[in-house]
Amino acid sequence: MKRALNFNAGPAALPEAVLQKAQQEWLNIEDTGMSVMELSHRSQTFENIHNKAISLLKEIMDIPDNYEILFLQGGASLQFSMVPMNLLSTGKKAYYVLTGSWSEKALNEAGKIGDTAVAASAKDTNYTYIPSADEISFGEDAAYVHITTNNTIFGTQWNNYPVLEEVPLVADMSSDILSKKIDISKFGLIYAGAQKNLGPSGVTVVIIRKDLVNSSLTNLPTMLNYETHIKNNSLYNTPPTLAIYLLSLVLEWVKDQGGVEVLQENNTAKAKLIYDAIDNSEGFYKGHAQPESRSHMNVTFTLPDEAATKKFLEEAKLAGFVGLNGHRSVGGCRASIYNAVPLSHCEKLVGFMKNFKESYSS
Ligand code: PLP
Repeated sequence: MKRALNFNAGPAALPEAVLQKAQQEWLNIEDTGMSVMELSHRSQTFENIHNKAISLLKEIMDIPDNYEILFLQGGASLQFSMVPMNLLSTGKKAYYVLTGSWSEKALNEAGKIGDTAVAASAKDTNYTYIPSADEISFGEDAAYVHITTNNTIFGTQWNNYPVLEEVPLVADMSSDILSKKIDISKFGLIYAGAQKNLGPSGVTVVIIRKDLVNSSLTNLPTMLNYETHIKNNSLYNTPPTLAIYLLSLVLEWVKDQGGVEVLQENNTAKAKLIYDAIDNSEGFYKGHAQPESRSHMNVTFTLPDEAATKKFLEEAKLAGFVGLNGHRSVGGCRASIYNAVPLSHCEKLVGFMKNFKESYSS
Protein backbone atom coordinates (compact mmCIF):
# COMPACT_ATOMS: atom_id res chain seq x y z
CA MET A 1 0.00 0.00 0.00
CA LYS A 2 1.25 3.51 -0.81
CA ARG A 3 2.48 5.39 2.28
CA ALA A 4 4.09 8.83 1.93
CA LEU A 5 7.36 9.93 3.47
CA ASN A 6 5.35 12.28 5.64
CA PHE A 7 7.14 15.25 7.23
CA ASN A 8 4.01 17.35 7.80
CA ALA A 9 3.99 19.79 10.72
CA GLY A 10 0.52 18.83 11.95
CA PRO A 11 -1.75 17.09 11.39
CA ALA A 12 1.18 14.78 10.95
CA ALA A 13 2.17 11.14 10.46
CA LEU A 14 0.56 8.65 12.83
CA PRO A 15 2.12 5.29 13.75
CA GLU A 16 1.13 2.74 11.12
CA ALA A 17 0.36 0.18 13.85
CA VAL A 18 -2.24 2.58 15.27
CA LEU A 19 -3.95 3.01 11.92
CA GLN A 20 -3.95 -0.74 11.35
CA LYS A 21 -5.52 -1.43 14.74
CA ALA A 22 -8.17 1.23 14.08
CA GLN A 23 -8.85 -0.35 10.70
CA GLN A 24 -9.32 -3.79 12.27
CA GLU A 25 -11.82 -2.40 14.77
CA TRP A 26 -13.42 0.08 12.37
CA LEU A 27 -16.83 -1.56 11.92
CA ASN A 28 -17.12 -3.46 15.17
CA ILE A 29 -15.45 -2.19 18.28
CA GLU A 30 -15.39 -4.41 21.38
CA ASP A 31 -17.97 -6.68 19.72
CA THR A 32 -20.66 -3.97 19.91
CA GLY A 33 -21.55 -4.21 16.21
CA MET A 34 -20.80 -0.48 15.97
CA SER A 35 -17.84 1.69 15.07
CA VAL A 36 -16.43 3.87 17.83
CA MET A 37 -18.07 6.89 16.16
CA GLU A 38 -21.50 5.30 16.53
CA LEU A 39 -21.22 4.58 20.25
CA SER A 40 -22.99 6.73 22.80
CA HIS A 41 -20.46 8.77 24.74
CA ARG A 42 -22.40 7.65 27.83
CA SER A 43 -21.95 3.96 27.02
CA GLN A 44 -19.69 1.77 29.13
CA THR A 45 -17.66 0.86 26.04
CA PHE A 46 -16.81 4.48 25.30
CA GLU A 47 -16.22 5.37 28.94
CA ASN A 48 -13.71 2.54 29.16
CA ILE A 49 -11.85 3.87 26.12
CA HIS A 50 -11.92 7.40 27.57
CA ASN A 51 -10.70 6.30 31.01
CA LYS A 52 -8.04 4.08 29.50
CA ALA A 53 -6.67 7.08 27.58
CA ILE A 54 -6.53 9.12 30.80
CA SER A 55 -4.80 6.39 32.80
CA LEU A 56 -2.32 5.62 30.00
CA LEU A 57 -1.36 9.29 29.72
CA LYS A 58 -0.93 9.47 33.51
CA GLU A 59 1.30 6.41 33.45
CA ILE A 60 3.37 7.32 30.39
CA MET A 61 4.01 10.92 31.47
CA ASP A 62 4.29 9.97 35.15
CA ILE A 63 1.68 12.58 36.11
CA PRO A 64 1.41 12.96 39.90
CA ASP A 65 -1.93 12.59 41.70
CA ASN A 66 -2.21 16.31 42.39
CA TYR A 67 -2.84 16.98 38.68
CA GLU A 68 -6.06 16.71 36.67
CA ILE A 69 -6.03 15.43 33.08
CA LEU A 70 -8.61 16.91 30.73
CA PHE A 71 -9.59 16.17 27.14
CA LEU A 72 -11.05 19.34 25.64
CA GLN A 73 -11.96 20.76 22.23
CA GLY A 74 -11.09 24.02 20.50
CA GLY A 75 -7.43 23.15 19.90
CA ALA A 76 -4.42 24.65 21.63
CA SER A 77 -5.73 27.98 20.31
CA LEU A 78 -8.68 27.92 22.70
CA GLN A 79 -6.23 27.34 25.55
CA PHE A 80 -4.63 30.68 24.66
CA SER A 81 -7.89 32.14 26.08
CA MET A 82 -8.88 29.52 28.67
CA VAL A 83 -5.55 29.70 30.49
CA PRO A 84 -5.82 33.41 31.37
CA MET A 85 -9.57 33.12 31.93
CA ASN A 86 -8.96 30.48 34.57
CA LEU A 87 -5.61 31.50 36.04
CA LEU A 88 -5.39 35.28 35.75
CA SER A 89 -7.25 37.21 38.41
CA THR A 90 -7.59 40.97 38.91
CA GLY A 91 -4.45 42.61 40.24
CA LYS A 92 -2.27 39.87 38.78
CA LYS A 93 -0.30 39.79 35.54
CA ALA A 94 0.39 36.98 33.06
CA TYR A 95 4.00 36.87 31.79
CA TYR A 96 4.84 35.39 28.39
CA VAL A 97 8.19 34.29 26.99
CA LEU A 98 8.05 35.01 23.27
CA THR A 99 9.78 32.31 21.23
CA GLY A 100 7.64 32.30 18.10
CA SER A 101 4.30 33.01 16.46
CA TRP A 102 2.38 30.66 18.74
CA SER A 103 3.62 32.38 21.90
CA GLU A 104 2.77 35.75 20.33
CA LYS A 105 -0.75 34.48 19.68
CA ALA A 106 -1.03 33.18 23.24
CA LEU A 107 0.08 36.58 24.57
CA ASN A 108 -2.37 38.47 22.34
CA GLU A 109 -5.30 36.38 23.51
CA ALA A 110 -4.33 36.75 27.16
CA GLY A 111 -4.19 40.52 26.65
CA LYS A 112 -7.91 40.44 25.86
CA ILE A 113 -8.59 38.83 29.23
CA GLY A 114 -6.32 40.71 31.64
CA ASP A 115 -2.93 42.31 32.29
CA THR A 116 0.04 40.80 30.50
CA ALA A 117 3.75 41.42 30.12
CA VAL A 118 6.62 39.98 28.11
CA ALA A 119 9.02 38.02 30.35
CA ALA A 120 11.63 37.60 27.58
CA SER A 121 11.63 37.67 23.81
CA ALA A 122 13.72 36.26 20.98
CA LYS A 123 11.79 38.18 18.33
CA ASP A 124 14.71 40.47 17.38
CA THR A 125 16.50 37.46 15.83
CA ASN A 126 13.38 36.13 14.06
CA TYR A 127 13.17 33.55 16.83
CA THR A 128 16.40 31.67 16.30
CA TYR A 129 16.96 30.86 19.98
CA ILE A 130 15.42 30.11 23.36
CA PRO A 131 16.13 32.79 26.00
CA SER A 132 18.31 31.70 28.92
CA ALA A 133 17.04 31.63 32.50
CA ASP A 134 18.67 34.96 33.38
CA GLU A 135 16.92 36.72 30.48
CA ILE A 136 13.50 35.87 31.93
CA SER A 137 12.05 38.46 34.24
CA PHE A 138 8.68 38.72 35.95
CA GLY A 139 7.24 40.60 38.91
CA GLU A 140 5.71 39.60 42.22
CA ASP A 141 2.33 40.19 40.59
CA ALA A 142 2.85 37.17 38.29
CA ALA A 143 -0.16 34.85 38.03
CA TYR A 144 1.96 32.57 35.85
CA VAL A 145 4.76 32.52 33.29
CA HIS A 146 3.91 31.01 29.90
CA ILE A 147 6.34 29.27 27.56
CA THR A 148 5.98 27.38 24.27
CA THR A 149 8.20 24.33 24.81
CA ASN A 150 8.72 23.66 21.10
CA ASN A 151 8.34 26.26 18.38
CA THR A 152 6.86 24.40 15.46
CA ILE A 153 7.38 27.17 12.92
CA PHE A 154 10.91 28.31 13.84
CA GLY A 155 12.31 24.93 14.90
CA THR A 156 13.52 25.81 18.39
CA GLN A 157 12.94 23.85 21.59
CA TRP A 158 13.51 24.41 25.30
CA ASN A 159 16.15 22.15 26.85
CA ASN A 160 16.05 23.52 30.39
CA TYR A 161 12.76 24.85 31.63
CA PRO A 162 12.87 27.98 33.82
CA VAL A 163 12.58 27.38 37.56
CA LEU A 164 10.14 29.93 38.95
CA GLU A 165 9.83 28.90 42.60
CA GLU A 166 6.26 29.85 43.62
CA VAL A 167 5.03 31.13 40.24
CA PRO A 168 3.27 28.48 38.12
CA LEU A 169 4.93 27.64 34.81
CA VAL A 170 2.34 27.22 32.03
CA ALA A 171 3.44 25.44 28.86
CA ASP A 172 2.07 25.06 25.38
CA MET A 173 3.51 21.62 24.63
CA SER A 174 1.55 21.05 21.42
CA SER A 175 4.52 20.08 19.30
CA ASP A 176 6.76 18.17 21.70
CA ILE A 177 4.54 16.47 24.26
CA LEU A 178 5.56 12.79 24.70
CA SER A 179 8.77 13.35 22.75
CA LYS A 180 10.99 13.24 25.84
CA LYS A 181 10.89 12.66 29.55
CA ILE A 182 9.74 15.68 31.54
CA ASP A 183 9.20 16.37 35.22
CA ILE A 184 5.53 17.33 35.41
CA SER A 185 5.94 18.79 38.88
CA LYS A 186 7.85 21.71 37.33
CA PHE A 187 4.65 22.84 35.60
CA GLY A 188 1.42 24.37 36.83
CA LEU A 189 -0.41 23.69 33.59
CA ILE A 190 0.44 21.96 30.32
CA TYR A 191 -1.69 21.99 27.20
CA ALA A 192 -1.30 20.39 23.79
CA GLY A 193 -3.39 20.04 20.66
CA ALA A 194 -3.24 16.36 19.70
CA GLN A 195 -2.35 16.55 16.03
CA LYS A 196 1.42 16.07 16.28
CA ASN A 197 2.48 13.49 18.87
CA LEU A 198 -0.84 12.50 20.44
CA GLY A 199 -3.15 11.54 17.59
CA PRO A 200 -5.50 13.25 15.17
CA SER A 201 -6.78 16.81 15.56
CA GLY A 202 -9.99 17.32 17.51
CA VAL A 203 -8.86 16.71 21.07
CA THR A 204 -6.68 18.92 23.26
CA VAL A 205 -4.99 17.60 26.37
CA VAL A 206 -4.79 19.83 29.46
CA ILE A 207 -2.84 18.79 32.55
CA ILE A 208 -3.47 21.15 35.47
CA ARG A 209 -2.24 21.18 39.05
CA LYS A 210 -5.29 20.87 41.27
CA ASP A 211 -4.58 23.91 43.44
CA LEU A 212 -4.66 26.17 40.36
CA VAL A 213 -8.22 25.29 39.43
CA ASN A 214 -10.56 28.13 40.21
CA SER A 215 -7.78 30.61 40.90
CA SER A 216 -9.50 33.21 38.73
CA LEU A 217 -12.14 35.49 40.23
CA THR A 218 -14.36 35.83 37.18
CA ASN A 219 -17.64 34.06 36.59
CA LEU A 220 -16.71 32.07 33.51
CA PRO A 221 -18.95 30.58 30.83
CA THR A 222 -19.53 26.94 31.76
CA MET A 223 -17.64 25.43 28.83
CA LEU A 224 -14.62 27.69 29.37
CA ASN A 225 -14.21 26.81 33.02
CA TYR A 226 -11.74 23.99 33.79
CA GLU A 227 -13.81 23.13 36.82
CA THR A 228 -16.75 22.05 34.62
CA HIS A 229 -14.60 19.54 32.81
CA ILE A 230 -12.87 18.33 35.96
CA LYS A 231 -16.19 17.69 37.72
CA ASN A 232 -17.46 15.77 34.69
CA ASN A 233 -14.33 13.77 33.81
CA SER A 234 -14.22 15.68 30.47
CA LEU A 235 -17.66 14.29 29.62
CA TYR A 236 -19.77 17.40 30.33
CA ASN A 237 -20.85 17.55 26.70
CA THR A 238 -20.29 15.23 23.75
CA PRO A 239 -16.52 14.69 23.47
CA PRO A 240 -14.63 14.04 20.20
CA THR A 241 -15.04 10.29 20.59
CA LEU A 242 -13.08 9.20 17.51
CA ALA A 243 -10.14 11.46 18.39
CA ILE A 244 -10.06 10.18 21.98
CA TYR A 245 -10.17 6.58 20.77
CA LEU A 246 -7.23 7.21 18.43
CA LEU A 247 -5.40 9.01 21.25
CA SER A 248 -5.83 5.87 23.38
CA LEU A 249 -4.31 3.77 20.57
CA VAL A 250 -1.37 6.17 20.19
CA LEU A 251 -0.75 5.99 23.94
CA GLU A 252 -0.79 2.19 23.81
CA TRP A 253 1.74 2.41 20.98
CA VAL A 254 3.98 4.73 23.01
CA LYS A 255 3.90 2.20 25.85
CA ASP A 256 4.68 -0.66 23.45
CA GLN A 257 7.70 1.26 22.13
CA GLY A 258 9.12 1.33 25.67
CA GLY A 259 7.75 4.72 26.74
CA VAL A 260 8.96 8.27 26.33
CA GLU A 261 12.57 7.45 27.24
CA VAL A 262 12.86 5.19 24.18
CA LEU A 263 11.08 7.71 21.97
CA GLN A 264 13.45 10.40 23.24
CA GLU A 265 16.47 8.30 22.18
CA ASN A 266 14.93 7.71 18.76
CA ASN A 267 14.08 11.40 18.36
CA THR A 268 17.61 12.44 19.30
CA ALA A 269 19.06 10.04 16.72
CA LYS A 270 16.61 11.19 14.02
CA ALA A 271 17.33 14.88 14.66
CA LYS A 272 21.11 14.31 14.75
CA LEU A 273 21.02 12.67 11.32
CA ILE A 274 19.38 15.68 9.71
CA TYR A 275 21.32 18.35 11.62
CA ASP A 276 24.57 16.56 10.70
CA ALA A 277 23.53 16.65 7.05
CA ILE A 278 22.96 20.39 7.38
CA ASP A 279 26.21 21.04 9.24
CA ASN A 280 28.26 18.93 6.83
CA SER A 281 26.86 20.55 3.70
CA GLU A 282 29.56 23.25 3.45
CA GLY A 283 26.95 25.94 3.92
CA PHE A 284 24.58 24.69 1.21
CA TYR A 285 21.94 24.02 3.85
CA LYS A 286 21.74 26.45 6.78
CA GLY A 287 19.82 25.73 9.98
CA HIS A 288 17.49 28.52 11.12
CA ALA A 289 17.81 27.75 14.85
CA GLN A 290 21.00 28.39 16.79
CA PRO A 291 22.59 24.99 17.57
CA GLU A 292 21.90 24.99 21.33
CA SER A 293 18.20 25.76 20.73
CA ARG A 294 17.60 23.26 17.93
CA SER A 295 14.32 21.38 18.01
CA HIS A 296 14.21 17.59 17.85
CA MET A 297 10.71 17.83 16.37
CA ASN A 298 10.91 20.44 13.62
CA VAL A 299 14.14 20.88 11.69
CA THR A 300 14.12 24.22 9.84
CA PHE A 301 16.71 24.99 7.18
CA THR A 302 17.26 27.19 4.17
CA LEU A 303 18.99 26.67 0.82
CA PRO A 304 21.22 29.16 -1.04
CA ASP A 305 18.31 30.95 -2.74
CA GLU A 306 14.64 30.81 -3.76
CA ALA A 307 15.37 28.93 -6.97
CA ALA A 308 17.24 26.17 -5.12
CA THR A 309 14.45 25.89 -2.54
CA LYS A 310 11.81 25.62 -5.27
CA LYS A 311 13.74 22.91 -7.10
CA PHE A 312 14.45 21.04 -3.85
CA LEU A 313 10.75 20.99 -2.98
CA GLU A 314 9.71 19.95 -6.50
CA GLU A 315 12.19 17.08 -6.62
CA ALA A 316 11.37 16.04 -3.05
CA LYS A 317 7.72 15.80 -4.00
CA LEU A 318 8.53 13.58 -6.97
CA ALA A 319 10.61 11.38 -4.66
CA GLY A 320 7.60 10.84 -2.36
CA PHE A 321 8.38 13.36 0.40
CA VAL A 322 5.47 15.34 1.81
CA GLY A 323 5.33 18.49 3.94
CA LEU A 324 8.91 19.75 3.57
CA ASN A 325 8.06 23.34 2.74
CA GLY A 326 8.97 25.84 5.45
CA HIS A 327 6.54 28.27 7.02
CA ARG A 328 6.44 31.63 5.20
CA SER A 329 7.86 33.46 8.25
CA VAL A 330 11.11 31.45 8.05
CA GLY A 331 11.16 30.45 4.38
CA GLY A 332 13.18 27.48 3.15
CA CYS A 333 12.28 24.01 4.37
CA ARG A 334 11.07 22.27 7.49
CA ALA A 335 11.15 18.57 8.29
CA SER A 336 8.79 17.70 11.12
CA ILE A 337 10.02 14.49 12.69
CA TYR A 338 7.49 13.72 15.39
CA ASN A 339 7.40 10.40 17.29
CA ALA A 340 5.66 8.51 14.48
CA VAL A 341 8.22 9.42 11.81
CA PRO A 342 10.59 6.44 11.55
CA LEU A 343 14.38 6.75 11.47
CA SER A 344 14.33 5.15 8.00
CA HIS A 345 12.36 8.13 6.63
CA CYS A 346 14.94 10.52 8.09
CA GLU A 347 17.71 8.44 6.48
CA LYS A 348 15.93 8.70 3.13
CA LEU A 349 15.62 12.46 3.58
CA VAL A 350 19.32 12.81 4.39
CA GLY A 351 20.19 10.74 1.31
CA PHE A 352 17.96 12.96 -0.78
CA MET A 353 19.51 16.15 0.68
CA LYS A 354 23.04 14.93 -0.09
CA ASN A 355 22.17 13.93 -3.66
CA PHE A 356 20.33 17.16 -4.28
CA LYS A 357 23.26 19.25 -3.03
CA GLU A 358 25.67 17.36 -5.30
CA SER A 359 23.54 17.58 -8.42
CA TYR A 360 22.57 21.22 -7.83
CA SER A 361 26.14 22.34 -7.17
CA SER A 362 27.63 20.52 -10.18
N1 PLP B 1 0.81 25.91 19.64
C1 PLP B 1 1.73 25.28 18.88
C2 PLP B 1 3.13 25.15 19.41
C3 PLP B 1 1.39 24.76 17.63
O1 PLP B 1 2.32 24.15 16.87
C4 PLP B 1 0.05 24.89 17.17
C5 PLP B 1 -0.39 24.35 15.87
O2 PLP B 1 0.29 23.89 15.04
C6 PLP B 1 -0.86 25.56 17.98
C7 PLP B 1 -0.46 26.04 19.20
C8 PLP B 1 -2.29 25.74 17.56
O3 PLP B 1 -2.94 24.55 17.73
P1 PLP B 1 -4.45 24.31 17.29
O4 PLP B 1 -4.47 24.31 15.80
O5 PLP B 1 -4.75 22.98 17.90
O6 PLP B 1 -5.27 25.40 17.87
